[in-house]
Amino acid sequence: MTKYIFVTGGVLSSLGKGLAAASIGALLESRGYRISIQKLDPYINVDPGTMSPFQHGEVYVTDDGAETDLDLGHYERFTAMIASQKHNMTTGRVYQKVITKERRGDYLGNTVQVIPHITDEIKAAVRKLESPDIDVSIVEIGGTVGDIESLPFLEAIRQLRLEVEPGNAINVHLTYVPYLKSARELKSKPTQHSVKELRSIGIQPDMILCRCEMELPDQLREKIALFCNVPPNAVKAAVDVDNIYKVPLKFAQHNVDTAVCRMLRLDERKSDLTRWKKLSAVIDSPREPVEIAIVGKYVDYPDSYKSLIEALYHAGFSNRADVKLHWLESTKFEKDADLSSLDKVDGILIPGGFGVRGVEGMIRTIRHARENGIPYFGICLGMQLACIDYARNVALLEGAHSSEFEDDPTYKIIYKLRELVDIDEMGGTMRLGAYTCDLKEGTLAHQTYGAAQISERHRHRYEFNKEFMPILSGAGLQFTGMSPDGLFVEIVELKDHPWFLGCQFHPEFKSDPFDAHPLFHGFVKASIRNRSLRLQHAESIGKEMV
Ligand code: GLN
Repeated sequence: MTKYIFVTGGVLSSLGKGLAAASIGALLESRGYRISIQKLDPYINVDPGTMSPFQHGEVYVTDDGAETDLDLGHYERFTAMIASQKHNMTTGRVYQKVITKERRGDYLGNTVQVIPHITDEIKAAVRKLESPDIDVSIVEIGGTVGDIESLPFLEAIRQLRLEVEPGNAINVHLTYVPYLKSARELKSKPTQHSVKELRSIGIQPDMILCRCEMELPDQLREKIALFCNVPPNAVKAAVDVDNIYKVPLKFAQHNVDTAVCRMLRLDERKSDLTRWKKLSAVIDSPREPVEIAIVGKYVDYPDSYKSLIEALYHAGFSNRADVKLHWLESTKFEKDADLSSLDKVDGILIPGGFGVRGVEGMIRTIRHARENGIPYFGICLGMQLACIDYARNVALLEGAHSSEFEDDPTYKIIYKLRELVDIDEMGGTMRLGAYTCDLKEGTLAHQTYGAAQISERHRHRYEFNKEFMPILSGAGLQFTGMSPDGLFVEIVELKDHPWFLGCQFHPEFKSDPFDAHPLFHGFVKASIRNRSLRLQHAESIGKEMV
């Protein structure tokens, strides 16, 4: 039978509720429990697919093609769960379902209301994850307690808790305990207010996780316990850590999982944290730096590239290197702008993106990497633009472009496969989710993956136009990954280059800290090699100059 942990947040947003949920999940898994984590998002968008990355950060894509909240990325990176559409529910989606039912006449003339119809639909979405294979379902409610829009979700979990047997559901509330420098004191008042707010809607937290800069003194824990109506050992410090992958160990130190097991009446099976400890040791070990440039459009909004950043860090762990990221705005590389800053990095990555802004700067960047032997990794848009650079500057197809950026380019290298994609409606037009891809033997892709067939997640509208395969491969571009039906080009690479690869899919969604994605591992490894050559070269020039 599936038990529940409902995770809510108070005081402020961005306290790391997603990471807290993921870490509790990881700790339960380390005790042999099978878990799932679900995110309930109070916004009205049906999914985050159409939301600007500037506002909402990355759109995380699941195997089954759902465009979801980026917290699902944390869940997958921290635990063994495979995320799907079922793991993310928004207000918009809930209302869409209820309204469809209402139009169909399912409510038999009853007045359709937030309680019970909306809340019933939320409960149904939560209970959909109940299964004999899931011991604990962790449900994170987005937003902050006190927001108007999260009320139906909170009401639904309040009701749900009553529906399951006592001991089968608990509420964990994450709050903030600020340190006031002038008073040299940690302050509990915001937490008290937040819990008061929660209790006023009928939810009594079982555990309070207090995000804070330093450990909570016992006295303060006791005070919070007293005012918030929980036992002192249910008040836990969620102390800042220097790396997110240390959160599970920190929680374990504070016996968060032991307390959860007791409250949920689960056997306190022995916990095995070996892999988290090893990871933490790698993070703390001295690691040589490697400088990676990310050239793109949303460079001031790292949340838009959450999974990408994590995947690069994972490759840093697997290569025992300290990956340093340089965010470069591609518009700065347009026309005849100076590209020499690109020679100061060890590898260049162009990530996914939409819209024309900065595209010419990206194409110049790719050309520079290609001509100067700088390892290059192009993801989705980064792959499409690598094909355009090759078409324009090597195959000399002047005017080669993507139909995303020009209505009718002379050479339509990247285009929309109209017969395959229904193009009319926003949010319904993309190739989304996992697709298999065959890799050509003996190629960089094949070597790097060590497999002949792979599965990767997609999120894009445009594709490489296969008409140009003969001319570009004649000019030296290798097509090394294809969809099994031969319809889609998935990977391109260059032979006479230290490391140059573009993929149409998003490998960053399938990397985890214990098992870096092979492409990211390979790219970072090549960048490390490039760095040592670069440094040797600089040293020899230096010597000559002496
Ligand atoms: N804009 C391109 C497309 O829609 C690339 C998308 C992406 O990089 N995710 O095909």
